[in-house]
Amino acid sequence: MADSIFKKIYNKEIPSEIIYEDNFVFAINDINPIAPVHILVIPKEQIPTINDINADNEAIIGKIVLAAKHIAKQQGVAENGYRLVFNCNADGGQTVFHIHCHLLAGKKLIWNA
Ligand code: 5GP
Repeated sequence: MADSIFKKIYNKEIPSEIIYEDNFVFAINDINPIAPVHILVIPKEQIPTINDINADNEAIIGKIVLAAKHIAKQQGVAENGYRLVFNCNADGGQTVFHIHCHLLAGKKLIWNA
């Protein structure tokens, strides 16, 4: 599998500030934010889509959510609230095939899928 754009960012082949990192995941600000806070929480392991989550790698989803919770607190948005989104494939609007969780916050978010 070719390296994803996120893998290249993590490997510093493409510049982007890493705003959070632990043993399993890292996070960056989205280059095209749709909310005042729009952060991508990304596993270090390159898994293409949520369809590829299975019993062998399911734990990474918990790691992502825990990191997102931590980042939301760090960003000062935990109390007001936030949204976590995984897009999957074409109808889900996925454009980067390395799973990632969008952390959206900083305004009252509209729900109109
Ligand atoms: P998806 O559409 O796959 O759910 O989300 C991919 C996200 O990655 C998009 O919101 C897009 O703006 C963001 N993105 C794509 N390329 C880059 C990049 O080079 N740097 C950063 N920081 N974000 C990117």
